[in-house]
Amino acid sequence: MPTPEQNPDVATPAAHSESAPVAASAAKKKTAAAPKKPGKLAERFAKFGLRSGMDFVLHLPARYEDETEIVTILEAAARFGQPSQVEGIVTGCEVQFKPRKQLMVTIADDSGHQLLMRFINFYGSQQKQMEIGRRIRARGEVRHGFFGPEMVHPGFKLVTAGAPLAQALTPVYPAGEGLSQAILRKAINEALNRVQWRDTLPPLWRQRLELMEFEPAIRLLHNPPHDIDQYTLTERTHPAWERMKFDELLAQQLSMKRAQAARRAVGAPKLDMVGQLSNAFLMTLPFALTGAQQRVLAEIRADLRAEYPMQRLLQGDVGSGKTVVAALAAAQAIDSGFQAALMAPTEILAEQHFRKLAGWMEPLGVSVAWLTGSLKKKEKAEAQALIESGAAQLVVGTHALIQDTVQFANLGLVIVDEQHRFGVGQRLTLRNKGTTANGTAASADLPAGTGPALPHQLMMSATPIPRTLAMTYYADLEVSVIDELPPGRTPIVTRAIDQNRREQVIERIHAAALEGRQVYWVCPLIEESEALELQTATDTHATLAEALPTLRVGLVHGRMKPAEKQAVMDAFIRNETQVLVATTVIEVGVDVPNASLMVIEHAERFGLSQLHQLRGRVGRGATASACLLLYQGPLGPVARQRLLIMRETTDGFEIARKDLEIRGPGEFLGARQSGQAMLRFANLETDQWLVEKARDVAQFLLQDKSEDSARIVRAHLARWLGSKEDYLKV
Ligand code: ADP
Ligand code: MG
Repeated sequence: MPTPEQNPDVATPAAHSESAPVAASAAKKKTAAAPKKPGKLAERFAKFGLRSGMDFVLHLPARYEDETEIVTILEAAARFGQPSQVEGIVTGCEVQFKPRKQLMVTIADDSGHQLLMRFINFYGSQQKQMEIGRRIRARGEVRHGFFGPEMVHPGFKLVTAGAPLAQALTPVYPAGEGLSQAILRKAINEALNRVQWRDTLPPLWRQRLELMEFEPAIRLLHNPPHDIDQYTLTERTHPAWERMKFDELLAQQLSMKRAQAARRAVGAPKLDMVGQLSNAFLMTLPFALTGAQQRVLAEIRADLRAEYPMQRLLQGDVGSGKTVVAALAAAQAIDSGFQAALMAPTEILAEQHFRKLAGWMEPLGVSVAWLTGSLKKKEKAEAQALIESGAAQLVVGTHALIQDTVQFANLGLVIVDEQHRFGVGQRLTLRNKGTTANGTAASADLPAGTGPALPHQLMMSATPIPRTLAMTYYADLEVSVIDELPPGRTPIVTRAIDQNRREQVIERIHAAALEGRQVYWVCPLIEESEALELQTATDTHATLAEALPTLRVGLVHGRMKPAEKQAVMDAFIRNETQVLVATTVIEVGVDVPNASLMVIEHAERFGLSQLHQLRGRVGRGATASACLLLYQGPLGPVARQRLLIMRETTDGFEIARKDLEIRGPGEFLGARQSGQAMLRFANLETDQWLVEKARDVAQFLLQDKSEDSARIVRAHLARWLGSKEDYLKV
């Protein structure tokens, strides 16, 4: 039997499972509430972040159900789209098999009106409970079905006549596997009686901030009186919710400011020489820096001179020229007598960086080392020796750089390209490669620059997000933005084309190739495993090679060995192949200016930023470029919108904004590193006024050196963050 959650036909599956105390039969509740091993329950709670009594107390309802009143079936039927509770006697109970198996129960209330309750998933025990003549309370939305008013999968319970009604709205908690509403409610109620109620805010402050007291606010949210303005509860605008949001935001602000202070207490290599190498490098560049590049370079240069480590995110649209800026930052480190390391997420990208940087730097006498996992043992050992002795001044590589065996002599600057592709831990490991011998954990109590030294960090990302958003969301991170493309780029024309017209597209690329242009052909998946409609890269390669006999067609995909991949890329860079069929491995970083045509198959399956990144592979040279988005219709509304946006703009920031609208910030930024991830109740955008209050209070508390303030900070952070704070230090 399918579970209610699996059945898409159930009108409100979530409501069904969340209103467990009503829906679940008494028998079921017993098994759920009494787990076999007591330790197991604690584990399940812990998985949910529920450990201390205060954790439970702060596990606030996601929504509320109103079981404080009973209305007639007639009245319930009139409340369109709103749930209500009715009570009646069972007048019929049978299982029907047409059009599908379902349990049909009719009840009649005192006025004699009938209501049909329909259960598509049900237990045999439920059928037995609802014998004719039993009294039932049911809660749900009434719809007008074939047999008159009906509730599909209502919450229900058996009652005796005149059984008392709930006095308060019933909270519905965020629940999870093995944690039913009943279990949560019990544990929370216990905690409410057990915890030490201390308001972390002094009364005077609370009054000035016009905030409710902590304990009454919490109690109200768990047990709201039935006459409360329900709207303010569900919209979370009630003063009790405001108090929770403020507290939460205060914790976030305190934590971010402390992380910043901790970073500033750490020492850093002083990279204060912009000398010979930097100057020579600028002289040899075949182009002048754009205004935006100059601006961000100035920001980075100033940071590198500081006595605490830089932590800066360099954002720039694809093709905006981040690599040169990174190279100039590295030059400053080398000029100052330190090593610099650049880490990229894929071997192809790392190799491209290596070639480019070595091409620029080696003629100027810099020794550049290359380290990836695919190197032979001996080569790896050689590279590691160079890195360890300090002979290698600039090191480029993949994750291999963060292996235990890699030791740097004096690492001054860490550059991470496509930073969002690395985990927090990976970035941390590379940074810690530069810790000095006596290096211990950073402490907020040390004066600026006196702690152990950590290298400066420059993170790069081609997924641009609006600046203000970046500042609010990323904890303790400076942000630089390159908002201008190098001159002479021709705009990319983007077309969305139905898959049916593939033949025409092939003709078009044939013509373009004959004119000396090069083409990327991107396929979403390599093997026909999950989605059969997907044209595989290998198939496409075969068909294109056959359709274009006069051209050379290459193939690169994620399953190839790095050396094979590189050979294919090299052939494309040298224009020995004209068409490159690729999976999304070419998504980031690949730079072949002569490529001016991009075909993306099944474009409807890609996300906006991915499409934008892929498109950014063309339009890098002087020739007019085009991007053809092949799609398979019919398009859903979101996919249609994405393709429209792609046609309308090539501005990465604009696209990022739209992407944000479609996806929401949490997912967009990667939950782990966004400040929003710490927030359960407040919303950084809609609760801006509370954010400002919290920011002021945090500022005051940290600047005020009194023991009282320190105590408030400690108590408040412990209550709200516990272990979560670590994430902010990265
Ligand atoms: P991304 O920001 O996507 O990493 P790259 O650093 O790869 O961009 O730069 C894209 C291309 O533009 C490269 O070929 C690079 O050499 C070139 N480029 C960078 N800066 C300039 C500039 N100021 N003028 C002209 N070309 C530039
Ligand atoms: Mg790049």
